[in-house]
Amino acid sequence: MTKCACCGGGYPAISQTHIGCSTARNKGTCDNRVNIRGDELEARVLNALKTRLVDPSLALRSPANQATRRPPDSRRHPR
Ligand SMILES: [Zn+2]
Repeated sequence: MTKCACCGGGYPAISQTHIGCSTARNKGTCDNRVNIRGDELEARVLNALKTRLVDPSLALRSPANQATRRPPDSRRHPR
């Protein structure tokens, strides 16, 4: 799922709470010794997903009858 940005190797859990590059840890051939908390990474991923999904989710949330009465956010997204 998660890959090391340096070597493309796996980024498995190295402890209960942290994940890190397995290559750097086991073989020492990768410089990426950055360990990150698993829950923090998860939060980042979720945040990125939320940011990307802003437009579709807004579109899904606005009821169809409202959309016919009022153009959906034409001021915010001029085209
Ligand atoms: Zn690596």
